[in-house]
Amino acid sequence: MIHAEVARDVADLTTRGVVPGLTVVLVGDDAASATYVSGKEKASRSAGMSGATIRLPATTSQAALLAVVEQLNADSTVHGILVQMPLPSQIDPDTVIRHIHPRKDVDGFHPINVGKLLIGHTDGFVSCTPAGVIELLVRSGVQTRGAEAVIIGRSNIVGKPMAALLMQGRSHADATVTVCHSRTRDLSAHTRRADILIVAAGRAEMITGDMIKPGAVVIDVGMNRVPDATRAQGTRLCGDVHFASAVKVASRITPVPGGVGPMTIAMLLKNTVRAAERSLH
Ligand code: NAD
Repeated sequence: MIHAEVARDVADLTTRGVVPGLTVVLVGDDAASATYVSGKEKASRSAGMSGATIRLPATTSQAALLAVVEQLNADSTVHGILVQMPLPSQIDPDTVIRHIHPRKDVDGFHPINVGKLLIGHTDGFVSCTPAGVIELLVRSGVQTRGAEAVIIGRSNIVGKPMAALLMQGRSHADATVTVCHSRTRDLSAHTRRADILIVAAGRAEMITGDMIKPGAVVIDVGMNRVPDATRAQGTRLCGDVHFASAVKVASRITPVPGGVGPMTIAMLLKNTVRAAERSLH
């Protein structure tokens, strides 16, 4: 549904003379990153955008990558720039993120966009995964106002922006937010009082049904590849939530794969459309 909405917006912008353009930069040949990048390119093309991927060798220097980013910043046909993480060890990710022009930072990682999110200004870009979680909650009719929302994980790309979004004083937010992390004492005591439990710890199936309040809404952000001898490739993808036990207790739960992953890509496309729209003004 969101993809159809994005495709309509892209068609509208195209008739106004702007084809939204997303350029993804992939450094190195990490298999998981390559899969994510091709998914993003495919999705942007199928929405009618001009999607390009710049592939650079794993030995690329930081200076060379920054030069590519500068070129993209200056290219008026590129509205969104995404540098796929993780980067090889010779490159500092924060330096790269700070070089992306905030108006083209469709990942929402630039400190200016993170600051706008925290302050509650809506003219920045919000990190795609937490934005996708809000979209899922809204479209499922989940009431966030006054709800106890417990987030597991405090990363800059998921946990922190998720907390910032849910604590804002506006509709589709207004929750009472608790952020748990690797140093939290008695995790279950927090998860068991969550009306909305959002798990982004990167620990396969760590949240089991007995840790969930009956009727809670459970959003599983985790994406873990674990061994599975029953599968042809010897592995399977799973979330941070033990689905079989959690589904018996939760009122709603997102699956992995599915759920948050596709929503993240949809938000990336939405951010790129916004960036293109803003280039008209
Ligand atoms: P991260 O490793 O940067 O952060 C993990 C966080 O979890 C940390 O803040 C840590 O304190 C916390 N944590 C770890 N173990 C814990 C424990 N036992 N108890 C409580 N807290 C604990 O990870 P990230 O980048 O935020 O990603 C988290 C997960 O979400 C990963 O599985 C990742 O693959 C997935 N992810 C999915 C998408 C998507 O589009 N679906 C996007 C981003 C991340």
